[in-house]
Amino acid sequence: MKPAVLLLSGGLDSATTGVIARADGFELHALSLAYGQRHHFELQAAARVAAALGVKSHVTLSIDLSQFGASALTAAIDVPKDRTDNQMQHGIPITYVPARNTVFLSLALAYAETLSAADIFIGVNAVDYSGYPDCRPEFIAAFERLANLATKAGVEGELQFKIHTPLILMSKADIIRRGVELGLDYGLTHSCYDPDPTGRPCGHCDSCQIRRAGFAAAGIPDPADTI
Ligand SMILES: [Zn+2]
Repeated sequence: MKPAVLLLSGGLDSATTGVIARADGFELHALSLAYGQRHHFELQAAARVAAALGVKSHVTLSIDLSQFGASALTAAIDVPKDRTDNQMQHGIPITYVPARNTVFLSLALAYAETLSAADIFIGVNAVDYSGYPDCRPEFIAAFERLANLATKAGVEGELQFKIHTPLILMSKADIIRRGVELGLDYGLTHSCYDPDPTGRPCGHCDSCQIRRAGFAAAGIPDPADTI
């Protein structure tokens, strides 16, 4: 089996990316980031999903982006609630974490080179998402070029790095259908940006709304739905 690094947040998309990578025959090394996110419950979800995927290893790195702040996910800024579809489809919301996927992919690349793994999986999605610029195909293509220029294994030709984004052009409903087909239990995942102190989802942030609409469109009940 070829080794691959999986960026695993504990959310719906990264878990689905994991089952797709596993079905494609990769041996998974999961990487989760404790970045000072207010929804730290997702790290517990990441541990549950990693166990369910049977990953070869699971590393959780602490890199506290709350020291920079500036995002509703890492600073004392209210998470927007009950935004309309129109609002969610325009502009980049305050839940954007500056350069987050560049930071995360850089760490995944460092881990991958250490493992002699050419393949990195990330569950970005440019269809049902919040307009974040670092979820788009142009960004992923640029990072893949960077990966092959920035590493010893890349410039010496030992590895040709590939950034896999199996969900990038899928609707949320199709992502959920694919995960269910592959046996993923979405009850293990956590999506809410602003859960209560016990981890219960708020039901009103963009992430909760996108998740709810996705399950509704797929015609599948959300096993994590406790609202
Ligand atoms: Zn929420």
